[in-house]
Amino acid sequence: MSRVLGKYVPAISLVVCTLLIWGAWSMTATQAPPPELAVKAPVAIVSQRPIRVGVTPEPQASVAIEISEPFHVTAVGSPKVLLKAPRLARTTVTATPRGLKIGKHELSVTRLEIVADKTPAVWIEGHQYRGRMRLFRASGGKVLAVNVLPLEEYVASVIDSEMPGDFPDEARKAQAIVARTYAIYQMQQAGRDAPLDLYASTRSQKYLGFQYRDGSRLLAGESVASRRIAAETRGQVCTYQGQVFCTYYCAVCGGGTVKGTEVFSDAAAPLAVVKCDWCKEANLYRWTAQVAKRDAQADIAPLLGRDGKKPGTLKSVSVVRAKGAGSLSEFDLKSDRQTVRVSGAELRQALAGRGLYSPRFTVEDQGNTWRISGRGHGHGVGLCQWGARGLALSGKTSEQILAYYYPGMQLTTLKSPGAAPPVKR
Ligand SMILES: [Zn+2]
Repeated sequence: MSRVLGKYVPAISLVVCTLLIWGAWSMTATQAPPPELAVKAPVAIVSQRPIRVGVTPEPQASVAIEISEPFHVTAVGSPKVLLKAPRLARTTVTATPRGLKIGKHELSVTRLEIVADKTPAVWIEGHQYRGRMRLFRASGGKVLAVNVLPLEEYVASVIDSEMPGDFPDEARKAQAIVARTYAIYQMQQAGRDAPLDLYASTRSQKYLGFQYRDGSRLLAGESVASRRIAAETRGQVCTYQGQVFCTYYCAVCGGGTVKGTEVFSDAAAPLAVVKCDWCKEANLYRWTAQVAKRDAQADIAPLLGRDGKKPGTLKSVSVVRAKGAGSLSEFDLKSDRQTVRVSGAELRQALAGRGLYSPRFTVEDQGNTWRISGRGHGHGVGLCQWGARGLALSGKTSEQILAYYYPGMQLTTLKSPGAAPPVKR
């Protein structure tokens, strides 16, 4: 999700807003303490194991690696040390017919784990991570890197990765809680034997690690402030009817959130439609893009021809208005051969790289170009990050913010939520 605007969460949106819950606010002025352990056992158990984060977006032909502390390498699940060294200068990991090769060291295992005496130590593709690093030989002779670390250490980095440090504390606390909840939900879904629980990119939620290089600059992936916020919200999760649900969230909803089931098949009831007047200061509250018709024709041809038919020449695109609040509009693409109905998300995906920030937009034919006018950044479901900022500035607490964007949810504190980070780095 995660990802300021461009820097963090992608998202989406096209919404028709509604009413909902504004009135419910006043009821939350006095907060009862969060209920302890209203959550089923599997959640408490899952949150005690380390999280496994895929830090390469997908398996790669080679992965850049560097290790700055003494370390040893084992096969995953085995105590036997296969390699030990005081450090590793920058090199690459590749797959071989026998296993995996780290620099000049070839190891006859397909799943290995790097354990450093002190972390953070391991750098992968310009990011340095806390915890352990696993390397898997994937199909096609590729390599997948997975960072394994305590959940709360992970949350401390996601806070800064997903939300600017100058957003108010209560917004960042809400971010911490939705990030933790999202992570635990993904851990439950993945199960114990899966190689990973989620990814470090906006495909899941953004996780930059401990620090990273951006050209010649070295930037922090976490901070004293983000570790403090992780500690202050330690173990807090959003639940609905006693269970953790997938807390989807977006960067800017653009005026109202999208009904969760419009976008995600596993959307729980709290992913409802709420009006949001709090994200107006975001640059992408409204946006426009100009796309040359010639480019649009090329981009859209696969959609026009998706049933194996010839796409023909694109003649027009028209919006099929959504029915009901929080629903997404569709589009009719008409060529000289046929008319195809597609979702805003499909059309946005086809026009990737053309400056469409959400699936909520209209298209105006201006002769040789389309003028596309849209709202919001991201899918528009769940907590609106810029809205959380606005609400926090208006004096709302993190719990009030969460109750607003996920109506019906409860804030629950897990009893044994894994190692919390100390405040100091
Ligand atoms: Zn919003």
